[in-house]
Amino acid sequence: MIDLKEKMEEMLRLLKKLVNLDSGSYYKQGIDEIGAVLSKEYESIGFNVHVHPQDERGNNLVIRHPEALDPKVMIVAHMDTVFPIGTAEKRPFMIEGNYAYGPGVVDMKASLVSVLFAMKTLVELQFDAYKNVEIVLNSDEEIGSRHSRSLIELVGKEKEYALIMEAAGKDGSIVTQRKGGARYKIKVEGVPAHSGSEHEKGRSAIEEIAYKTIKLHKMTDYKEGITVNVGLLKGGTSANTIAPIAEAEVDVRITNLEQIKEVERKMKEICSVPTIKGTKIKIAGQLNRPPMMKSKKSIELIRLVQEIGKEMGLEIKEAFRGGCSDGSFTSSMGIATVDGLGPVGGNGHRDDEYLDISSLTERTELLAETIRRLTHVHQTTQIK
Ligand SMILES: [Zn+2]
Repeated sequence: MIDLKEKMEEMLRLLKKLVNLDSGSYYKQGIDEIGAVLSKEYESIGFNVHVHPQDERGNNLVIRHPEALDPKVMIVAHMDTVFPIGTAEKRPFMIEGNYAYGPGVVDMKASLVSVLFAMKTLVELQFDAYKNVEIVLNSDEEIGSRHSRSLIELVGKEKEYALIMEAAGKDGSIVTQRKGGARYKIKVEGVPAHSGSEHEKGRSAIEEIAYKTIKLHKMTDYKEGITVNVGLLKGGTSANTIAPIAEAEVDVRITNLEQIKEVERKMKEICSVPTIKGTKIKIAGQLNRPPMMKSKKSIELIRLVQEIGKEMGLEIKEAFRGGCSDGSFTSSMGIATVDGLGPVGGNGHRDDEYLDISSLTERTELLAETIRRLTHVHQTTQIK
């Protein structure tokens, strides 16, 4: 088994550097700095870094060893955080006992460190499993990976396994299933009128969208794992005008792909007839991230990770998360996907986000060993 304990200090030094560089999804310069720091590290161990430039967002990186000819394992980790410029200065990297704090410390700067050190370790130990890996570091995961999805899918071609580096759960669990997410916009057109002198002539778009909101919310079905949330609502032009316009943004989560068809059918049905006669309703939107579902192959991958964990003395549970990740893309391409392979921590997207420090080396060992065994399995099946 690979042992990384002596690397801890070096890993924490790099982590501190990364956490203290702001890299919010909209802060291109910050993300590109993170990319530059990591590129140098990868190049120092002989890897090639391909920069995929972006105009507005941070550049995406694809990293592999020059001798990696047909790698079967892909790793996806994101460099962006949800925090605005100035956050790192306000609350920089800090260690207290066995915990490290700072913006993005576990979502997912610790994972960036972990992937690099897993590669370093495989190189140092001369396990050629590092030639079986292609790494995508993307810049916009926190805002839906709109600019990196096609790159993830391109790298995903010909891959058998996808290791997604979101943090492990507080209890150390890995993520084996995720809900899919869809977004819709609803626009209602009403008929304006002065609410004092000609109230009866108006048709309120706000009233109409209120009815629709209630109906849409009733579609939520916890048992089936379907949720519908009108999270943004705006409308009207002034207090004394019957609202001529109203808009809603709707977030829908589903557990499997069949559900989305039914959800969309119902939403269209609800929006097809106005409750307030004389108003008009339009709905548009789609599934953004498909659900991450288990497959025969992904179950084998999950069992392998759990088995290695057991050998390390870790009981690794499975978690089903409502939030989406880049694992949704790889999973829907039929690649055996497991997520939550980053170090252990919690409170992501909050001021008290933390990393469980001892998990940093532990999860890196788990990752390196997983890659090693996946490569071994692959090589033996090829020989047969
Ligand atoms: Zn994340």
